[in-house]
Amino acid sequence: MHIMVILPPILFLMRRVDSGYRAKPENLQLHGKNLSDETVEEYEAVRNSLIAMLEELDDRLTKITDDVRHVEEPLSQDFAEQAVQTENDEVLDHLGIAARTEIEHVRQAIARIDKGGYGLCESCGESIDKGRLKALPFARLCIKCAQAEEN
Ligand SMILES: [Zn+2]
Repeated sequence: MHIMVILPPILFLMRRVDSGYRAKPENLQLHGKNLSDETVEEYEAVRNSLIAMLEELDDRLTKITDDVRHVEEPLSQDFAEQAVQTENDEVLDHLGIAARTEIEHVRQAIARIDKGGYGLCESCGESIDKGRLKALPFARLCIKCAQAEEN
């Protein structure tokens, strides 16, 4: 019997992402203070959703990589078709870079949760608006600093 049959697929995915992220943070802190049980629960929920995002992104990246490598469809011999494929590969390349960047952001957000700085703006140190965090759980800047950075 194959080991793959025994392990649930989710475990496999997690392994591929990073087994270290499965560890539950023992003492979640903010500003060096321990958090209330309620906030800890909230953080754990965010952390879980970030991990789910990471899985999804990793899955997407695998698909993109497979497409670029032409796993299912070998590179065509026809020159015109090859040109189209090269163009497609460039698009896929951009998607791959975007996915990788997003993965990096999500990983950093998880690291911030574990280090105790989640929800604080990395630039000014103020709390990031809850609504913003809900929409963008891996935001590292408050809205003011994010806008300043864009300009
Ligand atoms: Zn800020």
